[in-house]
Amino acid sequence: MDEFALIRRFFTGLGPSLPEVIENVGDDCALLQLQPNEQLALSIDTSVADRHFPATADPWAIGWRCLAVALSDLAAMGARPVGFTLAITLPEADEAWLTEFSRGLRALADESGCPLIGGDTTRGPLTLSVQVQGVVTPEHVWRRAGAQPGQLLAVLGNLGSAAAGLRCFQEEPERLAHREDWNALEKAYLLPRPLTHEALRLMQGVAISAAIDVSDGLLADLQHLLASSAVAAELDLEQLPLHPQLLEKLGRPLALDAAQHGGDDYALLLTLDEADFPLARSLCPELKKIGIITKGAGIRTPGGELLEPQGYNHFSAQQDD
Ligand code: ADP
Ligand code: MG
Repeated sequence: MDEFALIRRFFTGLGPSLPEVIENVGDDCALLQLQPNEQLALSIDTSVADRHFPATADPWAIGWRCLAVALSDLAAMGARPVGFTLAITLPEADEAWLTEFSRGLRALADESGCPLIGGDTTRGPLTLSVQVQGVVTPEHVWRRAGAQPGQLLAVLGNLGSAAAGLRCFQEEPERLAHREDWNALEKAYLLPRPLTHEALRLMQGVAISAAIDVSDGLLADLQHLLASSAVAAELDLEQLPLHPQLLEKLGRPLALDAAQHGGDDYALLLTLDEADFPLARSLCPELKKIGIITKGAGIRTPGGELLEPQGYNHFSAQQDD
């Protein structure tokens, strides 16, 4: 199968047809039609085999996941997805692998309403770069900056599950190949669900003052939001949303540790006025209040204990890669 046959067979007609997409796979560029007063939100995420995901994982999940992690960034800005491009580097044109990979990719493209509009196909070690495009109006876009002292800190989505799921796979790598058998923690790691629809619902009805998605760990990403907003937070660890299977697998102390420091959760952290919380809850019943924004810097418990981020950082001094 040559490059162009591969693109036609696996990467054409993937996801819904949107009125914004004037040209997609097949020309030199994709073309998107924007409306006046719309801003284009762009984000790219690269997933490298055996660094961001295990190469032996179910290819359906690899397809789903490489798009999910990128869509999570659009959700974090409150942007509506309008298309994505995929730069794929493959060791070989394995038809069975590509069939499942493109099915997983298509499943999320359909579910999130985000079509594949272009890309690049090359040979080499398995690497997937997904760039997502979304639209947002400038008066509503969510940024990391904007949190105000006195506002609530809320989270949407469970914390710590993905880190525990990774551990399950490390203990039993043979489980990687069959997504039908995965437990909730394993799914949280390899089949994360970007909170696209939840973000758009909140965006319609509630004033969110700042937002970030949790990809590197709660404390690390909260710290980014706080630094951008020049504020501090009081974080109530008792309120963190922990999946029952996480508690069962790790016990409460280690589960709390995973929830604070574990990565790959793709939850959303949001700040808003207390008065808006009931409305936000009615739009997203899973939204959980986990703290309050205060003056100053850093993250403390209600008892005053300082909480330090230790999230994953590809180029931190501790990592030898
Ligand atoms: P060019 O050489 O002009 O960059 P390519 O030959 O790389 O174009 O790609 C041909 C068309 O196929 C382009 O529209 C490109 O966006 C699309 N394409 C290539 N690879 C992929 C892919 N993996 N997924 C989606 N579209 C792709
Ligand atoms: Mg090209």
